[in-house]
Amino acid sequence: MIVRLPKDLIDQIAAGEVVVRPASVVKELVENSIDAQARHIYISVDNALRDIAVGDDGSGMARADARLALERHATSKIRSLEDLQAIRTRGFRGEALPSIAAVSRLTLTTRRPEDLAATCIVVEGGQVKEEKPIGAPPGTKVVVRDLFFNTPARLKFLKSPATELGQLTRAVVRQALASPSVAFRLVNRGRAFLDLPADQSLRSRVQQVLGLDPKDMIAVDFEKYGVRVEGFVAKPIEARRDRRHQFFFVNGRPVADRTMAFAVEQAYEGLVPSQRYPVVVLLVEIAPDEVDVNVHPSKEEVRFRDQKKVVGLLNRAVAEALRAADLLPEMRLAESRPPGRGSSRDRTQFEKKFEQAGRSLLVPGPPYKEAPAAVGRVETTAPSARGQERPAPADETVAGGDRSKEPPEPSASSELVAPPDQPPLDQIAHPRALGQVADTYIVAQVGEDLLVIDQHAAHERLLYLKACERERSATQSLLVPIAVEVRPSDRPLMEQLIPVLERLGFETESFGGQSFVVRSIPAMFEQIDVPTLINDLLDELAREGPVGEFEKLRERVLTSLACHAAIKAGQRLGVEEMQQLIDDLMAARLSYTCPHGRPTMILITRDQLDRQFKRK
Ligand code: ADP
Ligand code: MG
Repeated sequence: MIVRLPKDLIDQIAAGEVVVRPASVVKELVENSIDAQARHIYISVDNALRDIAVGDDGSGMARADARLALERHATSKIRSLEDLQAIRTRGFRGEALPSIAAVSRLTLTTRRPEDLAATCIVVEGGQVKEEKPIGAPPGTKVVVRDLFFNTPARLKFLKSPATELGQLTRAVVRQALASPSVAFRLVNRGRAFLDLPADQSLRSRVQQVLGLDPKDMIAVDFEKYGVRVEGFVAKPIEARRDRRHQFFFVNGRPVADRTMAFAVEQAYEGLVPSQRYPVVVLLVEIAPDEVDVNVHPSKEEVRFRDQKKVVGLLNRAVAEALRAADLLPEMRLAESRPPGRGSSRDRTQFEKKFEQAGRSLLVPGPPYKEAPAAVGRVETTAPSARGQERPAPADETVAGGDRSKEPPEPSASSELVAPPDQPPLDQIAHPRALGQVADTYIVAQVGEDLLVIDQHAAHERLLYLKACERERSATQSLLVPIAVEVRPSDRPLMEQLIPVLERLGFETESFGGQSFVVRSIPAMFEQIDVPTLINDLLDELAREGPVGEFEKLRERVLTSLACHAAIKAGQRLGVEEMQQLIDDLMAARLSYTCPHGRPTMILITRDQLDRQFKRK
């Protein structure tokens, strides 16, 4: 038998899509406040997040509108399909207020500045209980009590208050990052969690909300083919264990989009270790008719007309920003400068100087000299000659080798990204090796500054880059194949590993049982101890659980390969070897971190030394 559902049940079902947890209530209410042009938004929660109040100083509503606002599909934001296609507001579905009201006891108090009195409407489980004029300041305040009191199932699905509060805070943070000019205050049981002033720049809002040091933030400002990408990405060293520090916005709307996250992570490939995720706040602006915002009830997903283009450009925007950034981390010595004597002037000079030096790392390098790592070479190729040798698109490494994921249009992907006006390399101070400390760190002089290099991390980074670049590079057939024995339990893993090893130049064959033979290895890794490498890899993979797709596995093999082949910490080096390593580092690109994400080098400037010795 078919029956028409009663209105309150319909409302509850609808609420199920929009109001899943306290965080969704806050999100919807805050979006409404932003749409109402509020300058200050106050959010207060209590009673294990079942009581939520959101107040604003926005436009407010006339009495008749306030009543309508609580009805389903009532909105002031669109009138027609054309409006929806050019939407600039956060809301447009006209569902949030009635949905929240259906699953709580809700009081709406609202007043336009021009009205004498405010309107107060009390709703319980979707039924209007009371409506009256009341004294209140201009703006709107929505108080939600006993959230989910009439939907016990929903209540049961809530996580711990701490988890829910985390989600709720994140919902506010997303809105706050999208609207840095609006003040936000979030209070839980009287305690302020977030207090952000009005009129902040995006930079200072990002800095405050994510707790980033300005020095670790890289600005992104990119525009091409009608797509604008703006925002900040953090240096690789700031990468986190999960994606909670990634924020994406499309035309001002916070979105959660996996493909956008992947595009950005690809730009960081090789700079952050696997299982680490870069911190980013990126705002994409695109013509409204190129994006469909109406694909998800909570409007957190969007669909682009040309997804590949947008994602490809996002990748480029980040890759370019990373490349143009100051690549050498500055050593953070204990600050000893007297307060007030700001050094912004020195700092800019420093920045200028090292912007140049940093760029030298960006110039496409020559093919790696196949000279055995141990034999030094005092004479280095004239740097200017090197620069011209090989104008390989720098895209290759930064975008992570896998070109198939780049946008298909040749015009959007095949341009050289390196700045065309680079100073010739020989005009930039080239580091000179001075010696080694603890057989682990190389100390070098760069102009008037001091450079300290972690020999293992740096060499590892170099080898990794080379291996990425020259995947199908020269392999060397072995006269005597190398036998490798694996544990019986590792055999299935080994089968998965073989195609990856083959692609990298290790021709490997099963020899029955747990025995395998390696018949060729890449020339650049000829010194490597193959059985140890393979067994270490298998251990690592077994420990870390499922290996995932080919690309992920390849990345892990490359990382491990670089680590095994690199100069070890504790290995004594001659000055020529040190210089060779430095030269190679300078010729390579993006040598800022090793594949594990640790720094490879630290710069201590003359200025910092002067300050430490109280000369300044
Ligand atoms: P939507 O935001 O999709 O339009 P809502 O149910 O969230 O739907 O809100 C319905 C209407 O109520 C909005 O279109 C707006 O006109 C009005 N409204 C809601 N919240 C506020 C607020 N804080 N200030 C002013 N007007 C509001
Ligand atoms: Mg709304």
